[in-house]
Amino acid sequence: MSDEQPRDFIRQIIDEDVGSGKHASAVVTRFPPEPNGYLHIGHAKSICLNFGVAGEHGGKTFLRLDDTNPGKESEEYVEAIKRDVHWLGFDWGDRLTHASDYFDQLYEAAEQLVRQGAAYVDSLSAEEIRAHRGTLTEAGRESPYRNRSVEENLGLLRRMRAGEFGDGEHILRARIDMSSPNINMRDPAMYRIRHISHQRTGDKWCIYPMYDFAHCLSDAFEGITHSLCTLEFEDHRPLYDWFIDQVDPEHRPRQIEFSRLNLAYALTSKRKLNFLVSEGIVSGWDDPRLATISGLRRRGYPPAAIRDFCRRVGITKKENIIEMALLENSVREVLDLETERRMAVLKPLKIVITNFEEGRVEQMSAQNHPNRPELGSREVPFSREVFIERDDFMEVAPRKFFRLKPGGEVRLRYAYIIRCDEVVKDAAGEVVELRCSYDPATRSGSETSDRKVKGTIHWVSGAHARRAEVRLYDRLFQVADPGAVENVLDALNPNSLEVVEAMLEPALAAVRPGASFQFERLGYFCADSVEHGEDRPVFNRVVTLRDSWAKLEQQALHSA
Ligand code: ATP
Ligand code: MG
Repeated sequence: MSDEQPRDFIRQIIDEDVGSGKHASAVVTRFPPEPNGYLHIGHAKSICLNFGVAGEHGGKTFLRLDDTNPGKESEEYVEAIKRDVHWLGFDWGDRLTHASDYFDQLYEAAEQLVRQGAAYVDSLSAEEIRAHRGTLTEAGRESPYRNRSVEENLGLLRRMRAGEFGDGEHILRARIDMSSPNINMRDPAMYRIRHISHQRTGDKWCIYPMYDFAHCLSDAFEGITHSLCTLEFEDHRPLYDWFIDQVDPEHRPRQIEFSRLNLAYALTSKRKLNFLVSEGIVSGWDDPRLATISGLRRRGYPPAAIRDFCRRVGITKKENIIEMALLENSVREVLDLETERRMAVLKPLKIVITNFEEGRVEQMSAQNHPNRPELGSREVPFSREVFIERDDFMEVAPRKFFRLKPGGEVRLRYAYIIRCDEVVKDAAGEVVELRCSYDPATRSGSETSDRKVKGTIHWVSGAHARRAEVRLYDRLFQVADPGAVENVLDALNPNSLEVVEAMLEPALAAVRPGASFQFERLGYFCADSVEHGEDRPVFNRVVTLRDSWAKLEQQALHSA
């Protein structure tokens, strides 16, 4: 993993601006989420960019909650957003703000525009306004109220603010150009009447500013130098600049757009995520199958992996869909380095070692990390009954199967070589137990024979195993672009969660919630941060050791 940050086009622009001394102050950016849902992986890209570029220049970043839409927003979301940004490793210091902090200033700016003849109160209905707007190929028509006098507009605006009118009776619009080829410039709305309490300002206001008006001015009020946003705002930039020109604030921010992050097999739309949560299709915003930051955290994705992924994705203006494999690779890289190894058996098959004395226990020394000796080793108990992975035994095995088969030998990792002497089946013919014998001369680390076998498998001592619920997560969706499917329920992968009762080596029961390990040969697993307890261990599979989907796709290619 490299920490080198590529100089993408935004960083080049900022480097130039800093070099030319264009801004008196340092680089100031903001991350401006609307608190109407939890953050997702797409937001992580924006967070890494905004905090990243400011940090690289010794600048500052505001976390600004864009709370101009009361009714859809809540403090629960605000708290979740703060938690997620912190967890990703970024600090806004004392720069936590809300668009609603500026409601007074925004209103003053609105009166200023009215006085300058740059805004007017329209009394057409929403439907009439829509009908006047025109289309991409057809100019709009001016409202009959467009030429009201400044005094009349000011009077109406103040009465709007005082609550004298009902929702939708009037609206404050910028007076720009109804025939502009850019529809955003056709006298866009600045304030609408909404008799609804705001989560922070209560009933102080019954008119609320529109995004385009509030956003650019909030940027200016905070001294933002570079306002970085996604491409859908490109067509709004003329309006952004127009409002700034009209108000002429002390600081003049510059908007620069970049492409959104789209992740294959994942949803990055708060509205659609909200649907999955409120319909109970997933267990909550932190369901480990969601690409929400809280879901990825609970799944066991380390924040460093998400930052690494965002760095690899880079910043461009090109729209594309990023493969989930790229994110999973970042996760594997971080976890490979950071996690200790443990043994666990997900689909257990019992083995009785007939020549190992009943009641005897041997402590085997197991390395905690293959490449990091400083992480030390631990003792793993070995006894007459052990569990191995059901898949590590085949009754009728192909020649190249180097795990256990009747009459065959395998090494139990950190322990002995065993031979399968007898296969025990139940009435239905299902294998329920293997009877094996071990070779005492092959104890790992103190072999007195130089016998070698091709296969090594993991195991857990039956007398010491801790039962655990292990959740094997797979992609939530079976189509690459679930956001494009009309009914998102049709896109769900019915096998996105498999729960198994696993056997863990005893050291795994006592770990703290949120701790991650590599279960040898199986993948990375994380003690569930909500439900894991010593009495009832619960682990989530973070990611498999290899990209099994790529393997499947390749197999499909070969067989095609
Ligand atoms: P959603 O479509 O999920 O509701 P949004 O754009 O409405 O997303 P905001 O809360 O307004 O969500 O987003 C806050 C910031 O995050 C904005 O600057 C926005 O451009 C950025 N952002 C949102 N989604 C993505 C994404 N997929 N990739 C990159 N940046 C994003
Ligand atoms: Mg938005």
